[in-house]
Amino acid sequence: MAGLCAAARARELGAEPVVLEKGSRPGGSMLLSSCVVWRYQTFEDFRAECPGGDEALQRAVFDGFDEALEWLVSLGPQVVWQDTPNPRTTGKRFDPRSLTDALVRAAGDVQLEAELPRHDSPLVLATGGFSVRYAHEHGLLVRSNPWSDGDGVDLARERGAELAGDLDEFYGRAMPAPPARIGEEDYVRLSQLWDGEARVVNENGEDFFPGPPAWHESDLAQAIARQPGGTAWFIVPADLREDPRVVGLRAAGGTVVEEDGELRLHVAAAVTHTQGGIAVDSAARVKGVDGLFAAGADVGGVSTGGYSSGLAAALVLGRIAAESAVR
Ligand SMILES: Cc1cc2nc3c(=O)[nH]c(=O)nc-3n(C[C@H](O)[C@H](O)[C@H](O)COP(=O)(O)OP(=O)(O)OC[C@H]3O[C@@H](n4cnc5c(N)ncnc54)[C@H](O)[C@@H]3O)c2cc1C
Repeated sequence: MAGLCAAARARELGAEPVVLEKGSRPGGSMLLSSCVVWRYQTFEDFRAECPGGDEALQRAVFDGFDEALEWLVSLGPQVVWQDTPNPRTTGKRFDPRSLTDALVRAAGDVQLEAELPRHDSPLVLATGGFSVRYAHEHGLLVRSNPWSDGDGVDLARERGAELAGDLDEFYGRAMPAPPARIGEEDYVRLSQLWDGEARVVNENGEDFFPGPPAWHESDLAQAIARQPGGTAWFIVPADLREDPRVVGLRAAGGTVVEEDGELRLHVAAAVTHTQGGIAVDSAARVKGVDGLFAAGADVGGVSTGGYSSGLAAALVLGRIAAESAVR
C-alpha cells in the first residue's frame, strides 16, 4: 500500500514516479487485508498502546491520518464502513480490490515483476518489511503477501541506514496449524480470534500466556511463536463445535480433538508484518542516507510494544515520503 500511496501523491505533486513491484500483482498485503484503515481516538491512547514506538514518528502518523484518509476516499474506492465499530479507534473500511484499483490508477506507472533498483534517487522503499524471512527463520506461518522478504531493509542497510524498533516483534494471528491448508483467501476468515474465551496451552500442555490477550490478540500470536514448534492448543467448551471458527479450522483440514466436554484446536503463529525496520525521521527520510525514503512496514518504530494500523502507517508515511522526495 505505501508504495502506491507514495506514487499517487508524487504524481499529484507533478512528479512522474514509477512503482517497481516485485510481485505478479499490485496491492501487496493490503489486497489480502480486512482493509480497515484506522487510528486510535487520541494520541495518548496510541502512546499507551505502543509505548516503545518513536514518539515523533507516531505523531506524524497520527496527525497526518485524517487528511490522508480524506485523500484516499477522494480517489474513489468503495467504502465499506464509514467508521470502525471499535470504540478505541476511528477510520474507514474499504473494499481491498477497489482500493487497490483506485491506487493503481492514481499511481499511474506500475511495473510488475520488477527488480529493486539499487542506485536510483530519490527512491522510496516500500517493500512491506520482512514477514516472509522472519516466518521462515522462525518456523512460523506466513500471513502476508509472499514477496515481503526484507529487500527494502537490506538495501537501506547497504546504504548505511540504521534500524529502529524491535526486530523480533511482529503483528500476527493464531491460524489453523498444519496439516490445515491455508490460502491467501483464508487469512482473514480463518483467523483464530477468541477474545480470551479459549484456554491456551503449548505442546507440553503448559499454560504459557497469563491473562486474556490484548484486544488485537497479536501479543498472543507472538507468545505462541516462542513456544515449541510455534504452535499451541486453544481449549474451548465442546458445545462450540458449530462455531464458525471451529467449523472453518476443521474444514481446512486442521486438527480438532474432542474429549471430556472440551474441544482442543491446534493453532500456529502466523506473521502478517514485522514491526522493526528502517529508522526514518518524521519526514520519512531514511536517517543518515540522502535521497532515500521509506514508508509502511519497511519503517521501524511506529507500533513498537503493541499494535497500530499498518495500513494507516503505509498511507500516511507513503504520502509524507512522496512529499519529501518531490521536495
Ligand atoms: C489478512 C490480513 C488482514 C489485515 N488487516 C488489516 C486491517 O484491517 N487494518 C490494517 O491496518 N492492517 C491490516 N493488515 C496489515 C496491512 O495489510 C499491512 O500493514 C500493510 O499492507 C503494510 O503496507 P506496506 O505498503 O508496508 O506493505 P504491503 O501492502 O504488503 O506492500 C508491500 C509491497 O512491496 C512489494 N515488494 C516486496 N519486495 C519487493 C522488492 N524487492 N521490490 C519491489 N517490490 C517489493 C510486495 O510485493 C508488496 O506489493 C492486514 C494484513 C493481512 C495479511
